Amino acid sequence: MQFIETRGNDSSRSPEKTFSAAILSPMASFGGLYVPNTLPHLGIAFLEAHRDADYRTLARDVLAEFEVDIDPTSLEEALAQYDNFDDPENPVPVVRVQDDLYVSELYHGPTRAFKDMALQPFGVILSRLAQQRDENYLILAATSGDTGPATLETFKNRPNIQVACLYPDGGTSDVQRLQMVTEDAPNLKVIGIHGNFDDAQLALKRLLGSEGFRARLQDRHIHLSAANSVNFGRIIFQQIYHIHSYLELVRQGAIELGEKVYLDVPSGNFGNALGAYYAMKMGLPVEKILVASNRNNILTSLINTGAYDMRDRNLISTTSPAMDILKSSNIERVLHDLFGPGRTRELMEQLDRENHYRLDEDELQQLQQVFAADYCDDEQGKRYIRSAFESGYLMDPHTATCFSAHESCRTKPLKTIVYSTAEWTKFSPTIANALTGENDAHDIDALASIAKTANTHIPARIKALFDMPVVQDTVIDKEDIEREVLSFLK
Ligand SMILES: *Cc1c(COP(=O)(O)O)cnc(C)c1O
Repeated sequence: MQFIETRGNDSSRSPEKTFSAAILSPMASFGGLYVPNTLPHLGIAFLEAHRDADYRTLARDVLAEFEVDIDPTSLEEALAQYDNFDDPENPVPVVRVQDDLYVSELYHGPTRAFKDMALQPFGVILSRLAQQRDENYLILAATSGDTGPATLETFKNRPNIQVACLYPDGGTSDVQRLQMVTEDAPNLKVIGIHGNFDDAQLALKRLLGSEGFRARLQDRHIHLSAANSVNFGRIIFQQIYHIHSYLELVRQGAIELGEKVYLDVPSGNFGNALGAYYAMKMGLPVEKILVASNRNNILTSLINTGAYDMRDRNLISTTSPAMDILKSSNIERVLHDLFGPGRTRELMEQLDRENHYRLDEDELQQLQQVFAADYCDDEQGKRYIRSAFESGYLMDPHTATCFSAHESCRTKPLKTIVYSTAEWTKFSPTIANALTGENDAHDIDALASIAKTANTHIPARIKALFDMPVVQDTVIDKEDIEREVLSFLK
């Protein structure tokens, strides 16, 4: 399968790329992204044939339909990463939480958030490709808390890859920070920035755009790549669990094969929801994809009104920080799929230039045939956390945002699959507050409190973080990032 560009081709690069080329250098013409030129059709026969397939078999067979140019040994090694999840037999458990609402738990990987679902296999593939080409890559990442740990964990000690990861000092949870600063491997550099996540991300973008920095990397024979969800190498793994979750409902007897469901996705950069969109296009029986947001509800407005408008918005800090995003990158891939490259370029260039765009009536209708959307503020989110807990289910604040979409967006009495994107251990102060009203300044107190209230224990690998040595203690001003990264690469 070949990959094409969402904003069309500028004739300085080839109009089609292989999968491997698209993931090694994910920057496309005019600032666009790579997308598959066609999607495979899986349909009911594929689902029927995989009714009882385990996760790895399903993943292998979905990837085979994409005909990616990755050798089978590398693919197998990539999929073997799911053996590091809690239950290698079933890395993504799906549990019934209330009547018609099922939760698909995407956080059972090593860093306890859904980023592992794609980054675990992706790390193997990128490193293998780099070795086969005898090239060295620098992965630059900026994180608000979940991408960083997952990126470090997947590339740790992998040949031909170095990672520099920027995080806002004081802007993540204790657990998230400890997951990064205790990562000990010669190919990893973790850099705390004085400032917030926007500062870290802006610094990263400046570095990526800097000619001088690129020249100095070239001197060292180092290529630059990205591991964020604009990289299709992540998206490809984010379609599989939607299909798996559907088949889980079939296996549990909750639905008949062929029966439609709602997929309810807590969304930020829209990678997870995009995976759902592709799964639906490939023939998964989905009634609608419900896009859940927090108060940074720009996607709610887009899907309900057709207007994407950042002009009167400032980013709001919420208790679901992984969804605190205004410029949601992957929506561009949906625009391309629905309206083609010309229109996508027009809309995205207007967004870059004027900070807004508006779909016309016909376009909005097409979008609404696939998506519905709602948002949830922090107080409401805490009420959902509490009421789920009262019926025996402990969930994180990102997952909680899905419950308002579940209440307001459905027009048919079909089952809903809510995606749970983080374990309770990663956002414990918010959850402790929801359960007991207390305000803990430190994760360790909140973790202990939740464990007591829920009559459970703090998972060993989370508890261990608090006793591990801090080996990554660099915290600097953003002006000094380039120098710091270059000295790490020496
Ligand atoms: C990254 C993340 C999200 C948002 O996912 P997108 O694919 O960017 O929409 C939601 N919840 C958690 C916990 C995350 O880490």
